[in-house]
Amino acid sequence: MQQSVRLQDAETGLDGVIVIHSLALGPGAGGCRFWTYPDFGEALEDARRLAEGMSYKNAMAGLPFGGAKAVLRRPEGPFDRAALFRAFGRAVEELEGRYVTAEDVGTTLFDMREVAKATRHVAGLDAADGRAGGDPSPWTAQGVFEAMKAAARLTLGVELSDLTVAVQGTGNVGAGLCRRLKDAGARLIIADIDPRRRDAVAAVLDARVVDAAEIATVDADVFAPCALGGALTMESVAAMPARLVCGGANNQLAERAVADLLLDRGIAYVPDYVANAGGIISVAAEYLGEDKAGVAARVDGIGARVHAILEQASREHRPAAFVADEMAERIIADAERRAA
Ligand code: NAD
Repeated sequence: MQQSVRLQDAETGLDGVIVIHSLALGPGAGGCRFWTYPDFGEALEDARRLAEGMSYKNAMAGLPFGGAKAVLRRPEGPFDRAALFRAFGRAVEELEGRYVTAEDVGTTLFDMREVAKATRHVAGLDAADGRAGGDPSPWTAQGVFEAMKAAARLTLGVELSDLTVAVQGTGNVGAGLCRRLKDAGARLIIADIDPRRRDAVAAVLDARVVDAAEIATVDADVFAPCALGGALTMESVAAMPARLVCGGANNQLAERAVADLLLDRGIAYVPDYVANAGGIISVAAEYLGEDKAGVAARVDGIGARVHAILEQASREHRPAAFVADEMAERIIADAERRAA
């Protein structure tokens, strides 16, 4: 199933779409992206890809949620941000729980507080003591860190303290990952198109800074895409010295053929939606009223999942991305069969 709900509100400038990709496992859960898109078609295209990715991510993380995503076009002129997100919240409410929203690129806790004035189908809000909730990005960073640790042990036979990691994008997830890697003794090379965010991380963590155009091909052991999607292209992978790719960004593979090229080049790849599930694990637990300890345990479990996927991919000499997709598709198909 796939459902698209067009969002348009002339008064607030709300313009975008909610795409629900699958409800087989439960309500469609996925964040709200607020970004500049030249036209609605591009926003819709992005929302479709992201919603599909959420179905796979939620299934693989063992969550009782289907996949969905909202993509909103950032207005060009001045706008009332709070009013725009309240209008978005009303649109979420109209779906009566079939879609649960939270933060994504370009949205913040403050935006979700506005959304929550219009609907209860929102997470990523303030967390009470011991309860799940709050900004999901630290959990995403923690999950990527666990994924990288497991993948480095299995595929490179080393600990993170032996590695140089090139991090693309030092936003919420990228900066959190950098801090964890530094604490674990790794060396860091970083790039961000926003020099302020990049320099803030470099100053505190003693990271080497390179130009954003160079980060995928800089001499490092691990490449960690933590910016927007599509970092792994035929060109970037052909020229990549890293032996392992593991990062927080969604939709890292620009095209399917890149997965084959990674395998041909002997570069281990941790499927993006497996590595970056920490945020949605937190969001799901918050929505279901669970506690923080459960979130920590599930995020810890990402390492074991990565280990299993990479081991199977290596045994079958197939791209890890395809192995993971098949696992997720099986989980969704089983749920559909049970519901039928
Ligand atoms: P963010 O907006 O805080 O950070 C993204 C950073 O990437 C920004 O600093 C931006 O300047 C930088 N950037 C953009 N294009 C770049 C480029 N070409 N080269 C270098 N830097 C570039 O977003 P975030 O929350 O950190 O999310 C990062 C990625 O992780 C996104 O793909 C997002 O979908 C994904 N993700 C985030 C979460 C979460 O919990 N926040 C969860 C799962 C997946």
